[in-house]
Amino acid sequence: MLVSAKEMLNKAKAGHYAVGQFNINDLEWTKAILLAAEETRSPVILGVSEGAGKYMTGYKTVVGMVNGMLEELNISVPVALHLDHGSYEGCYKCIEAGFSSIMFDGSHYPIEENVEKTKELVKVATGKGMSIEAEVGSIGGEEDGVIGKGECADPQECKAVADLGVTMLAAGIGNIHGKYPENWEGLSFETLDAIQQLTGDMPLVLHGGTGIPDDMIKKAISLGVAKINVNTECQLAFAEATRKYIEAGKDLEGKGFDPRKLLAPGAEAIKDMVITKIKLFGSDGKADE
Ligand SMILES: [Zn+2]
Repeated sequence: MLVSAKEMLNKAKAGHYAVGQFNINDLEWTKAILLAAEETRSPVILGVSEGAGKYMTGYKTVVGMVNGMLEELNISVPVALHLDHGSYEGCYKCIEAGFSSIMFDGSHYPIEENVEKTKELVKVATGKGMSIEAEVGSIGGEEDGVIGKGECADPQECKAVADLGVTMLAAGIGNIHGKYPENWEGLSFETLDAIQQLTGDMPLVLHGGTGIPDDMIKKAISLGVAKINVNTECQLAFAEATRKYIEAGKDLEGKGFDPRKLLAPGAEAIKDMVITKIKLFGSDGKADE
């Protein structure tokens, strides 16, 4: 059964580790991530962007697939199904479809409007036992065609949004989506520290986890980050393994063209990547605590 991300993230924040949000794109992705979480006894959050939701034909398909897999694979670790960077309308669609968590990304609205819409969605989501993430300060890079610059959030604005009763808060600290450019300045721990001082127990969310050096990840966790989003890194691992399979001509040998064989190395690569991240974030074994 899907659960809200609230309990797993509050435990992570108190226990000084982070839970990974791994974005799903299809059946292979979902299966690989769930198996990785089960194998490492880690709680996990499956992220679904609006674009990926559309690709999978809609949120109801996603909910049906994930619920079916939890049962058929006997998944016994806590799993949350979370809308990533949801629009106002998208949030309502996911609430209706049976997600257990949503993110309302109102970072592109003026702060007053972000606060107003977040407040309304907090009421609806928490009323249904769902967790809700809000964002302050646009996170750079491209997310479903929306390009941000990687700014640092205003700690006072973070406090204002945290006080609305959200479950977790994404704050820009110089992080961006996708691959980091050569001249990236790194995370602003000064900003993160200031946000944590004002928001206390609130689990903070680090988007754009791909390519952030391990020592920065660990420092961010020590400063209150309890949820880390990983998307691009799994995509790169999948693409690399699939390319190797085809370049080695394996699809031309015997029944190597069978999609179940063709997609297997990529799926295995995603699983390995997720296990590596779970261990880095320190959430392995935490499902049983
Ligand atoms: Zn993000």
